[in-house]
Amino acid sequence: MIEIRDLHKHFGDLHVLKGIDLDVKKGEVLSVIGSSGSGKSTLLYCINSLEKIQQGSVKIDGIDVHAKNTDVNKLRQKLGMVFQQWNSFPHLTAMENVALAPRIVKGKSKEEALYIAETQLKHVGLGDKLKNYPSALSGGQQQRLAIARALAMEPEYMLFDEATSALDPEKVGEVLDTMRLLAEEGMTMICVTHEMGFARDVSDRVAYFHQGVMEEIGPPEQIFYSPISEHTKKFLANVR
Ligand code: ADP
Ligand code: MG
Repeated sequence: MIEIRDLHKHFGDLHVLKGIDLDVKKGEVLSVIGSSGSGKSTLLYCINSLEKIQQGSVKIDGIDVHAKNTDVNKLRQKLGMVFQQWNSFPHLTAMENVALAPRIVKGKSKEEALYIAETQLKHVGLGDKLKNYPSALSGGQQQRLAIARALAMEPEYMLFDEATSALDPEKVGEVLDTMRLLAEEGMTMICVTHEMGFARDVSDRVAYFHQGVMEEIGPPEQIFYSPISEHTKKFLANVR
């Protein structure tokens, strides 16, 4: 599980995360919502050690992510990450893109890596695009390719940072459907999202971030239908 205790993150004078306490259990789907600049992306970067922290701790399966002697590269293999926009390698086919990390990071044989790639591309509904180059894929397909690339490393956790925000509206659904499938399969997921329907229908819990504080966390019914915090109420009134 992921255990975050009193996490503080500063960028110079800017206090971006102000004491976050959060547990995410195995199999749980957590959606993180909140205004732009509230620290949602920074939280994900602190979880996978793309950013250092100034106070507190993040533990993944009991291992302190930010401890000096932690093998970050090994730890990151537990964490798949999907960003708003992921640039796949343009000169490699979809299958070669997905096979790359298993081959290089995990040392799989070429045949094994390609088999994993084919399996994961089928998993995300791109079984008919194995030989396509990224430029021949739509935005939604490219995001599903990004998800397949992450899954090919057999992560135990998936972190999504606004995976659908850069997409044309008609492509959002196919990516959300893929995320929903992973949730149904039992993947542990933290999804930073502006898709309130997804947050409400797919998440076990929803966290609302406001100015670097986790203002409120609870089941979707609480957050969407009877929020406690005034800030949460105001935010939801504006996004609906
Ligand atoms: P969100 O994802 O909720 O929109 P972010 O986590 O990206 O918010 O950013 C939170 C705050 O931290 C913002 O004020 C942003 O400008 C600032 N910030 C993010 N990354 C950096 C950085 N690398 N250097 C300086 N400030 C940053
Ligand atoms: Mg962000």
